[in-house]
Amino acid sequence: MNIALIAHDKKKKDMILFVKENELAFSKHRLYSTGTTGTLLMGETKLKINLKKSGPLGGDQEIGSMVANGKLDLVIFFRDPLTAQAHEPDISALLRLCDLYEIPLATNKESARLFLEHINTH
Ligand code: PGA
Repeated sequence: MNIALIAHDKKKKDMILFVKENELAFSKHRLYSTGTTGTLLMGETKLKINLKKSGPLGGDQEIGSMVANGKLDLVIFFRDPLTAQAHEPDISALLRLCDLYEIPLATNKESARLFLEHINTH
């Protein structure tokens, strides 16, 4: 599967923890990430991740473009619900495209865990 991993700044620790806990499962898939999230994940794991631009610099739109072009099967996006983001329009656009193209979207750890469990057992 092609999986995108994105985390807002205050959720990056959670993302690193989640991916480390599930590194073996993630290693079986092709991974994509926004710049900072992906760079941190590659520093903390042995995973190879295809990097897009940082989210605020267009990375969310690049991931959105992949969704629109049928290049992603799952988006895991740990959003920070308590902090306003300068690139909110890009974030909304990505979420909208996931809904438009019916691409599974996990915006928190427990949803991501359920998706991953499903992927691993099917
Ligand atoms: P980042 O982007 O991984 O480059 O920090 C994530 C985002 O803020 O959308």
